[in-house]
Amino acid sequence: MSQHRAAGNRVTPGNAARKPGAGRSSAKHRVARRNTPSSTQIVGLTAALAAAAGAVGFSHSTLASPTQANSAVNLAALSLDNGQLSGITTARIQARQLATRDSSRVQLAANDTNKKQAAAAALAKARAAKLNATQALTAKRASALALAKAKADAAEKKLRESATRCEMMISGYHITATFGQGGNRWARNHTGTDFAAPIGTPIRSVMKGVVIFADWAGPYGRQVQVRHADGTVTWYNHMSKFSVSVGETVYAGDQVGAVGVTGNTTGPHLHFEVHPDGGEAIDPMPWLRNHCGLNP
Ligand SMILES: [Zn+2]
Repeated sequence: MSQHRAAGNRVTPGNAARKPGAGRSSAKHRVARRNTPSSTQIVGLTAALAAAAGAVGFSHSTLASPTQANSAVNLAALSLDNGQLSGITTARIQARQLATRDSSRVQLAANDTNKKQAAAAALAKARAAKLNATQALTAKRASALALAKAKADAAEKKLRESATRCEMMISGYHITATFGQGGNRWARNHTGTDFAAPIGTPIRSVMKGVVIFADWAGPYGRQVQVRHADGTVTWYNHMSKFSVSVGETVYAGDQVGAVGVTGNTTGPHLHFEVHPDGGEAIDPMPWLRNHCGLNP
């Protein structure tokens, strides 16, 4: 629109001359006069603009007079300004903006992808590190556990092989007769302690020792004798079977036989005797307490 007005002002000379007081010679007036284009200049300018108008769709041959040409130029300028030119410019701007926006979007998307990839990589790295740490810890624990087990096994072996360690000879029993008890079942007073338990209940050596007897022994039935490190001999009687042979080393808790009813007995039980230095039998109960810490 501003181009249109400017063109209009330029091709309408003499406006200043028609204003009141136009005849006075003022600097302002002279400047206005000087700047007013001559008719030759107007025609030249009009022709140039008409040529431009022709380029945007107006035929040069249709322009019959400078006035008509002038109108066509104005129209062309208007047309350029409001029509194609404005349209082209807007399209270009929009295209450029779109391109810029798209490129920004692509850049943003790329940045986002990079960030996500970096985050994923960092997460994977952290997870891998954590896994490695866990594996290292597991290995360390396994190693420590193996070492602890080895130590425990060694300690157990040492304890098992200990000459003074004791284990109870039988489980699930009840005492039916004590040492020194009189009665018509025995030729002398009772020489041991009776632990009644079901037939087949395992009977174990009370301490580490060597089997010195494993045979039938008259009123004792099947009997095993074990000599221990301090020379004490323990007897296991009335058994249903033997689990060891003479000369065999047994550890505390090793089975030597099983509860039976062999020999002079009215019911299944272990008749247990203790013979210090292989001599006369003593009361097993204080011996078990004092030598083994057992309190049957
Ligand atoms: Zn007995």
